Amino acid sequence: MEVLLARENGFCFGVKKAVELTEAAAERGRPVHNLGQVVHNPEISRRLAERGVRVIGDPSEAVEGIVVIRAHGVPPAVRARIEERGLDCVDATCSLVLRAQRFTKRLADEGYHVVILGTREHPEVVGLLGFAGGDVSVVETEQEWTRLPKMKRAGVVSQSTQPPWAFTALVSHVATIAQELKVYNTVCPVTVKRQHAASELAERVRTLIVVGGRNSANTRELVNLALMQGRDAHHIETADEVRPEWVRGRDRVGLIGGCSTPMDTLLEVKERVEALAQPVSV
Ligand code: SF4
Repeated sequence: MEVLLARENGFCFGVKKAVELTEAAAERGRPVHNLGQVVHNPEISRRLAERGVRVIGDPSEAVEGIVVIRAHGVPPAVRARIEERGLDCVDATCSLVLRAQRFTKRLADEGYHVVILGTREHPEVVGLLGFAGGDVSVVETEQEWTRLPKMKRAGVVSQSTQPPWAFTALVSHVATIAQELKVYNTVCPVTVKRQHAASELAERVRTLIVVGGRNSANTRELVNLALMQGRDAHHIETADEVRPEWVRGRDRVGLIGGCSTPMDTLLEVKERVEALAQPVSV
């Protein structure tokens, strides 16, 4: 049996930077706090915890030391609270998320009603909302955006991990309800490449194993794509979740990870899939 790895795998550059900045902070001999999981991957959180990094939900939980802002970014008010408390701030917000924050603020400053494509509770969207002012809507599904009211001036941005087809569909719809429309395409090209790699792989296999945090938006999108292509798609976080019945009797199994899945976790999964595919000796 063959395990086919997708042509795009491992950390994206934003996650790599966030993990490296947190590791470097942990070397400084002071208490280090991640404001929320640094990236949506429990394995990475576990490894950082072993190095003494504590995950907090709010700056008020840190008494002293360093607070690392994760790749998803935070609203400006949260950043200000870190500084007001006299904590050392390491900003690991991905450069593409910073770009989306800048565009969101620009739209709000220019008087546009900001329309964000994304999941309202996702930390990246929570961050963007902090730049959007009060005149803003968050939509994720067609059902939601068809309920948007008519607008004079609308400005559209996206959470980085939303699928490009959804962004295009939203923009087409807003064009029919707004007199003036401004669009900043803030869908992350790295996740788009990963989605293309998942689709390509799904063309070649019946079963696809997708590795990544259950709360990772970009990982869940890879699972959705494979399901939409009619494949058996299994979302796991670690190698011990692979079930024998998924792989036994298959000629090939596809393997892909989300943007926050380390390469070594993928290789552990590959090894386990290969071991489970072996005929059981009696
Ligand atoms: S998925 Fe894209 S936007 Fe998100 S951290 Fe990675 S490179 Fe940045």
